[in-house]
Amino acid sequence: MEIDDRINGSTAVFGVIGDPIEHTLSPLIHNTMAKMLDTNLVYTSFHVKSSELGEAIRGAYKLGIKGLNITVPHKKEIIKCLCSLDKTAEAVGAVNTIKYTDKGYVGYNTDMIGVYYALTGNGVTVQDKTVLVLGAGGAANACAAMAAAKGAKKVYIANRTAEKALSLAEHIKGYYNIEIEALPISDIDDIDKCEIILNATTLGFDENKGKTPVEDIGFFGRKGVETVFDAIYSPWETRLLSDSASQGVKTINGFDMLIYQAVAAREIWYDERLEADFRAQVRLELLQYYLGRNRK
Ligand code: NAP
Repeated sequence: MEIDDRINGSTAVFGVIGDPIEHTLSPLIHNTMAKMLDTNLVYTSFHVKSSELGEAIRGAYKLGIKGLNITVPHKKEIIKCLCSLDKTAEAVGAVNTIKYTDKGYVGYNTDMIGVYYALTGNGVTVQDKTVLVLGAGGAANACAAMAAAKGAKKVYIANRTAEKALSLAEHIKGYYNIEIEALPISDIDDIDKCEIILNATTLGFDENKGKTPVEDIGFFGRKGVETVFDAIYSPWETRLLSDSASQGVKTINGFDMLIYQAVAAREIWYDERLEADFRAQVRLELLQYYLGRNRK
């Protein structure tokens, strides 16, 4: 038997917490990056229920866990467990990355960077464009803040629960000087036009597989839609993406966002700058691996 001495007394521990958590790809991404960068760390997943979030974070801190990613349903609740937030996390209003410091864990949001690189990496910029964000949960916060921060001309936020869209719009207005309007998702046909759609609803995912937030396929042509981004990557092509592609729209799924938010988290934890070439290499390695096993 070959002795595996990669994990030892100096190994730094990182992880992701969520509920459920068993389908997460974050350990795969972070442990792959650690191998590529020859870093002595181990990254694993922790199943943490909402009722046990505070206790879990206090325990993680006492154990000296250097950093955690935070996923559904804890991205907003985690804020009360932290000593401070960086300004991007404040503007987004949600946290997906926390870093150990002497004073406690500090909160960051790298979903916003992830969605930005997912668009720019595919040749899409939001500058001076009208953007329709679908959803008002954690991912929608990141999409709306990104669009506002990167100079969109106007942002619409459409959600099933209209009050949540309104409250997200108000939150974003507090940080960015931008024209922003909230509406119920059932009323999206009322908007004049939108060049970019960012789907951050769960429609198309898991139990909602096969569903789409844009039922009317004529919407894309009528509103001048050029690009549709869907935060979902499983299935690889949601109905929203296949419907819009059939109308000549450029489509991007959530895989790149997933990879790039992880690279940005690693930069925060190790206080390092990883170049675009490295980002592209991580994406390619994991894309080949993932598609080899999961393409559906
Ligand atoms: P979340 O906070 O739970 O928000 C879910 C959103 O979906 C809410 O706006 C919700 O509307 C809406 N929704 C749920 N069921 C719906 C239905 N039947 N009809 C219409 N709207 C519905 O979740 P999240 O964390 O923002 O995640 C949203 C999606 O993004 C998920 O599919 C997740 O997998 C994906 N995501 C991807 C990445 C990535 O790196 N690629 C990162 C984060 C999230 P209500 O407010 O009305 O309930």
